[in-house]
Amino acid sequence: MTKFEVLRYPNSILRKKCDPIETIDDDVVQLAQDMLETMYEDKGIGLAAPQIGITRQLIVLDIGDGPLALINPKIVEAEGSDIMEEGCLCLPGINVDVERSERVRVIALDPKGEAVDIDADDLLARALQHEIDHLSGTLIIDKVSKLKRDLLIKKYKKAQQ
Ligand code: ZN
Repeated sequence: MTKFEVLRYPNSILRKKCDPIETIDDDVVQLAQDMLETMYEDKGIGLAAPQIGITRQLIVLDIGDGPLALINPKIVEAEGSDIMEEGCLCLPGINVDVERSERVRVIALDPKGEAVDIDADDLLARALQHEIDHLSGTLIIDKVSKLKRDLLIKKYKKAQQ
């Protein structure tokens, strides 16, 4: 397995819209394994392909219940709302309160090409929404007011120097 380097904001790849995966071949399976490896090494609970520079619709997660790799994930139902503090491997040192749906239903394919249908709440619902956001180039700093965002970016840039 290969550990990738996680890109950091403001790398422009993090803003790209990711392409759906048409064929689940060995490369995709390998990529999912490498992403899990990278996520565990960096002590994250989720990772999306664009975070390692690959603009394809693949995310991996492990909130403590074991690894999950989802291809072309889509939120098909969402309800409730909840605010929780989140961080992101692309924005080290930044933690921000993010409002998200409390419960989501996500459909996807797993690396074997089987259909997956997940009804998630709590941390899993949050992690899924965070990672799926990455596939359309959305980051946690986009989920707050412009004023808050400007402050966070200032703080982040200072810490990166
Ligand atoms: Zn993230």
